[in-house]
Order: sequence, then C-alpha cells, then structure tokens
Amino acid sequence: MSVLDENIAKAGAYMAGFRASGVLNHIGGQTVAALSGDTMDTISPIDGSVLAQVAKSDAGDVDRAVAAARAAFPAWSKLPGAERRKILIKVAEAIEARAEEIAFTECMDTGQALRFMSKAAIRGAANFRYFADQAPSAEDGEVTRTPTQMNTTSRRPIGPVGVITPWNTPFMLSTWKIAPALAAGCTVVHKPAEFSPMTAKKLVEIAEEAGLPKGVLNVVNGLGETAGKRLTEHPDIKAIAFVGESRTGSMIMAQGAATLKRVHFELGGKNPVIVFDDADLDRAVDAATFMIYSLNGERCTSSSRLLVQASIYDDFTARVAEVAKRIKVGHPLDPETVVGPLIHPVHEAKVLSYFDKARTEGATIAAGGAKIGEAGCFVAPTLFTGATNDMAIAQEEIFGPVLTAIPFQDEAEALALANDVEYGLAAYLWTNDLNRAMRMTDTLEAGMMWVNSENIRHLPTPFGGVKASGIGRDGGDWSFDFYMETINVSFPRAPHNIPKLGG
Ligand code: NAD
Repeated sequence: MSVLDENIAKAGAYMAGFRASGVLNHIGGQTVAALSGDTMDTISPIDGSVLAQVAKSDAGDVDRAVAAARAAFPAWSKLPGAERRKILIKVAEAIEARAEEIAFTECMDTGQALRFMSKAAIRGAANFRYFADQAPSAEDGEVTRTPTQMNTTSRRPIGPVGVITPWNTPFMLSTWKIAPALAAGCTVVHKPAEFSPMTAKKLVEIAEEAGLPKGVLNVVNGLGETAGKRLTEHPDIKAIAFVGESRTGSMIMAQGAATLKRVHFELGGKNPVIVFDDADLDRAVDAATFMIYSLNGERCTSSSRLLVQASIYDDFTARVAEVAKRIKVGHPLDPETVVGPLIHPVHEAKVLSYFDKARTEGATIAAGGAKIGEAGCFVAPTLFTGATNDMAIAQEEIFGPVLTAIPFQDEAEALALANDVEYGLAAYLWTNDLNRAMRMTDTLEAGMMWVNSENIRHLPTPFGGVKASGIGRDGGDWSFDFYMETINVSFPRAPHNIPKLGG
C-alpha cells in the first residue's frame, strides 16, 4: 500500500463521522441542527463528491448561539487569567494530540496539501499557547500621576464577540482569532466559511473535551448573507473579527454600523515581491515561488506580483517558470504534492477566468495557464510574463497558484508599481543594498514587509494590512487591545479646588 493509499484510508475514517452525523452547529455545549432543519453540502475539491451535510443556519440559530455566549460571559470573563491560561494550554495540548486528524480533515475539506496542513494544525496549537500565556496579564494597565490625581488604567474583556473566517487554511486562521478572544475573557460565536466548515466543529469539540466551559465557544454554520449578516448585526455581539475579502469587509462595516460594532478586518492582498539585480537570486527564486505556489496560492500574503529589475527579468522569470513547471500537482494527501485542488468549482472558475483575461490583455503565459484533468479543481501553477501594472492580472486578487511578473528599471519605478494597487497587506523585498532596503521599506504601502525573506510569522509582531487590506492588527498585545476595553479610573491624591457654580 502506498503512503497515499494509507492516507486516503485514514482520511476516509475521519470523514465517516462527518458523513454520518453531518457538520452541525455547536451551541452552549450541544451539537444541534439548524432550527429550520436545512442543510447544505460541503464537497470534496478532489472529485466534487459530497463530504457531508452542513447545518444551513439563519438568524434564529445565530440568536441562540449569541444567547449562549452571553450567558457564558460573566463566569468566563471573571475567571482569573491564570485559570483561563490553564484551560487554553490544555486546548493547545489536545490540538497537538489530534494534529493528524485535524490536518487530514483540512486537506479533504479544502484541497490544501498535507505537507503544509500538518504544520497548520501545530500552528493552531501554538496560537493557543502564545495567547494563553498572556491571559494572566491581559487586564494589566499603567498608573500615571499628576500632583493631584492618580490614574489607573486597566482592561476588561469587551463581551461576546463574533469571529467570521474564510475558507483558506480555516483551522489555523480561526485559532488566530479565537485564542486571543478567549484568553482576553471574551466568549465567542464563530461563523466558519461555508466552503470549509469541518475543522471549526473539531476545534470546539476538542476545546470542550479539554475543559473549555460550555457556551464559551459556539459555532454556527451557514451562508454569509444570512447567518454571517445576523452575527454582525446582533446587539449583544460587541465586536467582529473578520478575515475575508475586502468587499465583504465593507458590507460588514455597514451591517455593524447600527450597533456601533467594533471591527477588525484582515482582507485581501496583491502583494509584490520586488527583486533587484544585486540580490541573492537563488534564494529570491525559492522565496518568490514558495510564497505563491505553496498553500495553492490561496493565501492572503502570497507574493502574487513579481516585480523584477529589467536587467535580470528574462533570466529570473525563466527560472521561476522552470520551478512552476516542475511543481507536483496532485492529491492533497500525497506527501509529494505541493499544489492540491482549489477549494471549490466556483473559485476554480474565477481563477481560470484570469487565464483568458491574461491572453486578452496581451500577457504571455510562461507556465501553466490551464486546468489539469477533468475531475476536481486542479489548476497548473502559472506564471504570466510581459504584464503591465494596469492589467486585471496585476491589480486583482486571483487567490490561486498564479503569479504575474512585471519588469522595472529602477527603484523609483519599483516603488511606483508596488504601491499602485488598492491593497496593502504584505511586501517582499530582495536586495543586498541596505540603504535601498531602508528607503524602500520607508515608502512601500504594506502593513508587513519582509526583506530578503519569505513570510516568517512571529506571533509577538503585528499582522495586518493597510489600504483595502484591513483595519487593525493581530499578534502580540494588539489582539488583546481589540478584544478588550481600556478603562481609566482617576483617584484624588490631594484635595484640589473644585469650582463652585451657582454660588
Ligand atoms: P469571503 O469574504 O467571501 O468570506 C469570508 C467569510 O465571510 C465567510 O465565512 C462568509 O460566509 C462570510 N460572509 C460573507 N458575506 C458576509 C456578510 N454579508 N456578512 C457577514 N459575513 C459574511 O472570503 P473568502 O472567499 O472565504 O476568503 C478569501 C479572502 O480572504 C481573500 O480575499 C483573502 O485574501 C482573504 N484572507 C485574508 C487574510 C488576512 O489575514 N488578511 C487571511 C486569509 C484570507
């Protein structure tokens, strides 16, 4: 039996539970169907087969979940941070113990390759550990004094919060939002993406088995325009942490306006990787190809625009094309696979539409540019060359293993091209000239920049975008600032003159 066959057999066992009982909601510690009894399919991107029936919830289901989160809030928020820490560390341990199950489920539901998903489960556990460790000090503030007043600042959990997540790497992304919310003392209603709901259900089950009190984390499945919308409008939900497309972020901001919702948005990107001719080109080729062709290119921080100095453009893009052509596309559970099937036929159709756009716009398809096979959502790793920055393939987020290469003459042109998009999530810069790196990073419009490096996440650092790529930052203490209210209390240090009115 090959490793792939073994993995498929294991995944079949993991899927059997979902097939039998469906992906139901999890509210107040109970697994429940949608009140209407409605369901929707979640399908395998490998062959289009139905993996399970998913609860198709509407406003009434969201209201139940919010009521459960509200009921659980007083006890959870008052639990000492050190106690919350203990529980959340147990959750991290339980995730690690079930990392294989999570990874296999994620591969089947999303099409992401196992070589990346096995790490995603471990990263999810790391998120829980990191934020758990900060729970004991999350309330802490500072004391500031004047001759007459002593001001004490502290933080309180904001209340029940909504977390709305997208379909790419859903487990890791959800933990990134949910772990700091729980560590801060908030309770959560999570609305996972309709294309990939499975691991959200696993997370809440694992968390409760590890000791998370019932009602602290609740999961409601359903469509964005119904279940998601109600969550953003619910008056008892104090904040919405959202990861997804920029236009959905705009809708959520409008939907939450009536209840003055606090929002945190991690949105789309069209991130440049800028390569100067003085760079270590071997490493730059590896990093540029890794950041677009790993995770199926369905990654907000993917380096989807390759800006290369004209003097090395032909040689560099030829090397990238060679790598793209050699990449193994295949079953996500095959340990050799780099690119698996895209999440869903709807998304695949979007990605494929850019191959026609590229041809119409006059770009060259230097690698890929086609669907692979008949069954499933397999798309060849693709490189467009000869592109200009005004083309749709240079401006729009394609969200697949698709890279658009554009030449530049000098630093000024590189900067102009890099910044001439609506997005501003990440930028990658390759040069051995330190002064140039300083100048460029001062002016690039991106929330995160990596110099001579691919995206290496360090949890204490801020993660987030500028322009249409987001509002707010995750990581470090920034996460706690979002999920908590900062309160100031002032005490008199000495009698002071209080003006008498009306005397
Ligand atoms: P999406 O915006 O279509 O959906 C995301 C979530 O929002 C889903 O759960 C969906 O049901 C829900 N939703 C949709 N309409 C809603 C509404 N009106 N009200 C409330 N909720 C609603 O995004 P997607 O296609 O699932 O994910 C891909 C996008 O996510 C890409 O743009 C990608 O760049 C972005 N993303 C960003 C980051 C980041 O950190 N910046 C990380 C991952 C993904």
